[in-house]
Amino acid sequence: MAELKTRLEEMIGRNNCLADEEMKKHTTFRVGGPADIYVTPNIAQLPQVIRVCMEENVPYYIVGNGSNLLVSDSGYRGVIIELKKNASKIFIRKPDEPMEDDASIIEADAGALLSTVATSALNVALKGFEFAAGIPGTVGGAVSMNAGAYGGEIKDVLIDAKVYDIEADEIKTLSNEELKLGYRRSVISDGGYVVLSARIKLSKGEHDSILAYMNELKEKRVSKQPLDMPSAGSTFKRPEGYFAGKLIEDAGLKGFAVGGAMVSQKHAGFVVNAKDATASDIYTLIKAIQKIVKDRFDVELEPEVKMI
Ligand code: FAD
Repeated sequence: MAELKTRLEEMIGRNNCLADEEMKKHTTFRVGGPADIYVTPNIAQLPQVIRVCMEENVPYYIVGNGSNLLVSDSGYRGVIIELKKNASKIFIRKPDEPMEDDASIIEADAGALLSTVATSALNVALKGFEFAAGIPGTVGGAVSMNAGAYGGEIKDVLIDAKVYDIEADEIKTLSNEELKLGYRRSVISDGGYVVLSARIKLSKGEHDSILAYMNELKEKRVSKQPLDMPSAGSTFKRPEGYFAGKLIEDAGLKGFAVGGAMVSQKHAGFVVNAKDATASDIYTLIKAIQKIVKDRFDVELEPEVKMI
């Protein structure tokens, strides 16, 4: 591991290569033990970092904003590659040929926050990205998960994504169709690719109505979601024909707790870190919710949250 750290430091600089970094500082659940090595490369360096990990036979994991991630209390044995710090540029371009609705293209690096992309779009009066303004993830995480809210999803606005194909050791562009964006999944979440950047198409709108819609969605979130407590958003995917939060509430689990982890009193679909929870508390609570809902309603709840 020491040799790998030296190689990575030479490649991306000492400031971008930390040892024993507590993952609780980098996840919205605010839990997770130390990662052996925590690196923050830029887009150009990212493929090389992955190659070096592979050559040294050390596991690695890509992290955006850690807003859909449960990292174990023992941490991560390997290299965490975080993109938010140095891979977050955003460009707005007029297309070479005029497009319908006077559309423009936003090109964003994988580590750009969705909220920053939404603000950039607002500043130049481009509409269609309002749904994503309150999702606390990065562009890479959002493409991987096909993030969505309030009737919109990444699939609706994405033209294509530049990706690193790990096995082929090649940078490719995958179209919207090739990304196979489905409900909280894509070819990226199946593994084998890392998102480097994405191109998003948005049409011309009016600044004030875009802002008004963003504020309306923000108010909805604040009134319905436990944003005052650390969480990873909706803990479970929506089972077909049901709502996870409603099933959990109907099972009488609002406020149900394991250690410091609790089913939110405000929205039963959210497991929250109510008081100094450990990852183990959260994991045990997730398992208990799954069992109780299965016993009571014969419905399998599948976690949306990724666990490492
Ligand atoms: P991370 O949590 O860092 O990673 C998630 C997964 O994506 C991991 O498997 C990771 O390896 C992978 N990944 C990240 N970047 C890349 C990359 N560049 N290339 C390949 N794989 C990558 N989600 C919604 O869809 N809708 C919502 O309304 C919503 N509301 C939320 C509200 C709150 C309060 C919170 C805390 C979360 C919410 N989420 C929501 C969940 C989360 O924000 C999204 O899933 C988001 O897309 C995750 O992005 P991230 O950058 O934080 O990814």
